Amino acid sequence: MAGLRLVLASNNAKKLSELRALLGDLAVDLVTQGSLGIHEAEEPHHSFIENALAKARHAATAAGGAAIADDSGLCVDALGGAPGVISAHYAGEVAAAGEREARRRVQDAANNARLLDALRGTTDRRAHFICTLVAVRHAQDPQPLVAVGRWPGEILAAPRGTQGFGYDPLMFIPELGRTVAELDETTKNRHSHRARATAQMRLLLQEVWHL
Ligand code: IMP
Repeated sequence: MAGLRLVLASNNAKKLSELRALLGDLAVDLVTQGSLGIHEAEEPHHSFIENALAKARHAATAAGGAAIADDSGLCVDALGGAPGVISAHYAGEVAAAGEREARRRVQDAANNARLLDALRGTTDRRAHFICTLVAVRHAQDPQPLVAVGRWPGEILAAPRGTQGFGYDPLMFIPELGRTVAELDETTKNRHSHRARATAQMRLLLQEVWHL
């Protein structure tokens, strides 16, 4: 639906289609920053909220209008919230050849191995996936909309399942009796940290921006 142009500070096509599915009936026209020639912002901060806000402000500045950004990852209680904002590269940048998808799998496996190492001998396995979404109406917006979705679970001692990506094979969700990598995509998208954050953001867009 044509409406307020909302620039998504990500070039991830999956995120765009997920957001479109959940916000599609509001009067917003979601476009990726890449389609407007806007480059990705730095993410130098220690917290998800700071990074998401920096990305949203960067896109809003470059586009001259409203923007929305997300930052997500895994936080493990016994590790003081690590891997946190470095979830994507917890094991360092693992050099790998091949296509993007193949390189991502190698990086994910290294990150999972590092996490198992860090938790060896630890009985407190509680963790949550977190997704922080921030929307600004313009670059200097004094009242950014902030939605945080948490999806709690426990880190297993060995991976299980083949779906999804990232830490999904290690993340066991007690209420579903499965790891996230054992869930089909529809089920994951119904329960996930991203779904939770997006549902909240939807309400904020309606209540505060009157969309
Ligand atoms: P991004 O912000 O969506 O790019 O996520 C950053 C990193 O957090 C990913 O590279 C993963 O390591 C981790 N992560 C975020 N969401 C998920 C998820 O749904 N499953 C597994 N890992 C995730």
